[in-house]
Amino acid sequence: DYKEQLTEAARFIHQNDNFLIVSHVNPDGDTISSSLALAHLLKDLGKSFHLVNQDEIPKRFQFLPLADQIQIMTHMSEKFSAIISVDVADRSRMGAIDSLMYDHTKILNIDHHPTNDHFGDVNLVLPTAAATAEVMYDLAHQLQVHFHRDLATCIYTGLLTDTGGFRYANTSAKVMRIAAELLEYGVSPSKIAEITLETITPGHIQILKIALSKLEIIEDGKIAWTFLEKKDLPAKTLHDETEGIVNYCRNIEGVEVGVFFKETDDQVIKVSLRSKNIIDVGAIAKSFGGGGHARAAGYTFHGSLEEAKSILRHKITKDEGWNHLGNEF
Ligand code: 5GP
Ligand code: MN
Ligand code: MN
Repeated sequence: DYKEQLTEAARFIHQNDNFLIVSHVNPDGDTISSSLALAHLLKDLGKSFHLVNQDEIPKRFQFLPLADQIQIMTHMSEKFSAIISVDVADRSRMGAIDSLMYDHTKILNIDHHPTNDHFGDVNLVLPTAAATAEVMYDLAHQLQVHFHRDLATCIYTGLLTDTGGFRYANTSAKVMRIAAELLEYGVSPSKIAEITLETITPGHIQILKIALSKLEIIEDGKIAWTFLEKKDLPAKTLHDETEGIVNYCRNIEGVEVGVFFKETDDQVIKVSLRSKNIIDVGAIAKSFGGGGHARAAGYTFHGSLEEAKSILRHKITKDEGWNHLGNEF
């Protein structure tokens, strides 16, 4: 159970040193914040660590304390005996990590995705947690670390971003209690919300204009989707620049499932799924080799955009929940 997992995770941390902390590809607020919260915990315990991500860290998360220490995977050559993955649902979400590992390398897997496949040697996975940051809060208590503003800022930012500003269905009483406590350590909620949720870049607006002009509503208004092709996107567009587009689809009145298709390469489509009440998009994404949560999930499709659309449309409308739409209240 979770208590035992916390004990095992704490033991893993006490028994090892020189950790490699890995956050997931196309990093979001939770994976970055949680990996930095963990870095603060290790630092306070006198342990050494390196932070790594396969991709670039979005600018809006660079204010987080220790964010400047996150290295890009391909720039590293050292190998590590102990890895801690953070907000990573399956091994592939760490990216091209193999060259940083020995055969004997042990992994501690800290996460909150219901689709997590427990790939770690030690697994600390709480599917009911709103964010991996919530698990970090519990781990901090387990390790009896003293809270301070930097640690609190990291945990708070993970909670804030993964709950969409304390609005999504994962916003629980526990989340609100933790968030309130973190404010006592000097966290600035208005500043963090402004930086991570409110501020949008001119580049994002350009992309959003194109995405909204292509938005389609289908299946009697129950599905809304849009797409961006490679030619619509400037070279080297970070995943972060297209985040949130899928919400415009989902938020339309009457829509149950919002979808955003992004062509990232020839015949490679990154699919983002969101649902409102009934359809378990995590299960749908998993059936395509991806994963996520019941209300937010994703996968990568190999084929054309038209194929991606028709196969997904079929899958959603054959979902068990589809016939129950309209009866959710
Ligand atoms: P997004 O649509 O923002 O990329 O992802 C939404 C959620 O689905 C996140 O919780 C993310 O971790 C998960 N997710 C997105 N793409 C994938 C994927 O390819 N594999 C897995 N396992 N999870 C994904
Ligand atoms: Mn994440
Ligand atoms: Mn998360």
